[in-house]
Amino acid sequence: MKITDTIHTIPNVQANSYLILEPDGLTIIDTGMPFSEKQTLRYIASLGRSAEEIKRILVTHADLDHYGCLVGLKLASGARTYASQPEAEAMARGVSSRPVNGSVGRFQAFVIRLMGKLLKPTPIQVDEILRDGQILPVLGGLQVVETPGHSPSHLSFFAPSVHVLFCGDSMKSDNKGLRGSRSRNNWNQTLADASVRKQSALGAQIVCPGHGPVVKDADGKFPV
Ligand SMILES: [Zn+2]
Repeated sequence: MKITDTIHTIPNVQANSYLILEPDGLTIIDTGMPFSEKQTLRYIASLGRSAEEIKRILVTHADLDHYGCLVGLKLASGARTYASQPEAEAMARGVSSRPVNGSVGRFQAFVIRLMGKLLKPTPIQVDEILRDGQILPVLGGLQVVETPGHSPSHLSFFAPSVHVLFCGDSMKSDNKGLRGSRSRNNWNQTLADASVRKQSALGAQIVCPGHGPVVKDADGKFPV
């Protein structure tokens, strides 16, 4: 599903997975749940591109729904994989970078435990560690923006040339617009709020969150 000519949402993948199509290769931001790789590869094929063209897979944070099929996509494509150090350490162990079943009810805790057993991501050592401020050769210069709070070293990615922000779970959206991350599973709410403020100053016009619809004309819609 097209956001712009070069940026697409991959359909039928949860959480949101974004595909950037450039002449010299493809970049994916977040992979969705385990076993989503077929949907991603099918969508890429439907655009007349091939798995081997995937050059990079960037992961915002080490949650099941964001790196769940990173191994599958890496095996299919040979792409280089990227995350921040603390999130990469969790991914190498096949876990999240913080406890994720917080203060939930007994039934929810049961469902989370069950899902964790059935849908455990395969551990993966990423190829490259990303740091705040680094610029990647994507979309004319894709900035790595550290946005901790939801998880200890959550990353967002901002492309100033097209004013597009990929914010992972540092914010989410619904049909009313953007919202701050308020999950009971947030690692640090104070840092999560500061990360929203940091991102509101970037000048993004299009915000692509991990959950919820893409927000266009985003200026002035940040929840600060
Ligand atoms: Zn998520």
